[in-house]
Amino acid sequence: MDLLRSVKDQTDETEFHTPLPEGYRKGRTKYVVVVGTVISGLGKGIFSSSLAKLLKDKGLKVAPVKLEGYLNIDSGTLNPFRHGEVFVLDDGMETDMDLGTYERMLDQDLTAASFTTAGQIYTSVLKRERAGGYLGRDVQMIPHVTGEVKLRLRELAMETEADAVFVEVGGTVGDFENGFYIEALRELAYEEGPGSTSFVALTYIIWPPSLGEQKSKAAQLGIKRLMGVGIQPDIIACRAGKPVDEKVRQKISIYTNVPMERVFSMHDLSSIYLLPEMMREAGLDSQVIQLLELGNRVNSLSDARAAMQWREFSARIGHSSGEVTIGVTGKYTTVRDSYASIIKALEHAGVANNAKVNIKWIDTTSVTGDNVAQSLKDTDGIIVPGGFGVRGTDGKIACIRYARENKLPYLGICLGFQMAVVEFARNVCGLGGAHSTEIDPDCKAPVIDILPEQKQIEGLGGNMRLGGQDVEIMADTVAAELFGGAEHIRERFRHRYEVDPKYIEQLEAAGLKFSGRHPRHPIMQILELPGEVHPYFIAAQFHPELTSRPLRPQPMFVGLVKVALARGVR
Ligand code: GLN
Repeated sequence: MDLLRSVKDQTDETEFHTPLPEGYRKGRTKYVVVVGTVISGLGKGIFSSSLAKLLKDKGLKVAPVKLEGYLNIDSGTLNPFRHGEVFVLDDGMETDMDLGTYERMLDQDLTAASFTTAGQIYTSVLKRERAGGYLGRDVQMIPHVTGEVKLRLRELAMETEADAVFVEVGGTVGDFENGFYIEALRELAYEEGPGSTSFVALTYIIWPPSLGEQKSKAAQLGIKRLMGVGIQPDIIACRAGKPVDEKVRQKISIYTNVPMERVFSMHDLSSIYLLPEMMREAGLDSQVIQLLELGNRVNSLSDARAAMQWREFSARIGHSSGEVTIGVTGKYTTVRDSYASIIKALEHAGVANNAKVNIKWIDTTSVTGDNVAQSLKDTDGIIVPGGFGVRGTDGKIACIRYARENKLPYLGICLGFQMAVVEFARNVCGLGGAHSTEIDPDCKAPVIDILPEQKQIEGLGGNMRLGGQDVEIMADTVAAELFGGAEHIRERFRHRYEVDPKYIEQLEAAGLKFSGRHPRHPIMQILELPGEVHPYFIAAQFHPELTSRPLRPQPMFVGLVKVALARGVR
């Protein structure tokens, strides 16, 4: 980014700070802003992505962006225990798990421009200050920090040529951290003019069990808070356990100047995939189209087609003919959000196989060779997911050995790939000292290691290999069959360690097949055991869960569920 861009707007001549990217046309892109009130955890991301999907279905181009209040530059260093999984975009950006919700719902790859943190905003402002970008001015929250927010939103609009940018503000209105975002959005709406921005306030209707009825006061106060900072919501979406009473909606309407037809009940559903349909039926999408004067850009034919496809998909959820239990082993099993994408990928694979997939969480810190059979006894297949560090790795290796020897379907992901190599090296190749140097830096046979020379090939230094990479698939392998004969696929990586090429020959001679590789270098990306030896034993150095989409389930998950079902153990 050009640090000195729009310098002329920032002198002391004017109090306005409205940097517009070159060539920006007001009114070309509309903005839908989604904020939360009353409580966090209302599902703003699910709401916003479902609404964006409905507009996309109508043939409109949409671009979502999440505005995070925290000061971290990205989510790379956040502990999944505290914050849920780290979702990696194709361009390598490490983001909040909400970006996964957007990619899945929209079936659209996003870039770093869709993920903004307060840390990124302040960093840009401070760098520009050092570069003399605000000559003569004291640099202030308003207009400079808010100006940076507006600039980024408009840049996203320009880059994506979107008809509608969907802005989700993290946290709730009134939080200290997101105040400058809310102010920036107020300014944006003012500058862009009428018909350009819609504010959607998500709120929560409480239902105190002792009263047995829905109460609207908390919602009213939450929305008043938004109005207090100068934003009149256009649409109110009421989250609640049960459908929201007409009387409650009326109260909210009268207290907030929002007409009844724009106060919606967005109560809990059995599946998030039913939300787009619920919104469509309630007329939420048509209200947005009307407010933003987008009617003439709508393609009704595409809308009808997409709606049908989606209905067909969502009707299959919960109407399965079979059932399987997949064990997921990992140390973050107490926080389901740490495995959000795996849960989703299994759900997609379940629908594709007409099966209900139950997940059994297995904490590997307590698994040993002696109790592994007991730990896995109710599962029809297992996944060893990604992870970092020593804890629980012995248990993971025990699980992998059990799966390999007992022909239990196995899918290994990232660390689950690396541990499969270690297990095979130890127990099949007889390399007693085999390990990953991440876990045992002094092991005798470092089959998994950091290989700076490999990293240099890709210009990534000693750092994590991040983001989308091509994977070449070897012909006549399980992988080739899963990916429908594709010679190349693109998947998302997030790892530091990898198979040391000097062990490849030995491992392959003993029967392990590396069926996915870097197109040019000896970097191993998929491993498998041949079909004659094991019904399903496959693992990926990448994270296949990150690319699974409802209507395009990831083949390695589909394969796992399929074989687990076919086993028909119970
Ligand atoms: N810790 C391993 C590595 O850095 C695996 C990473 C992961 O599972 N995402 O290579």
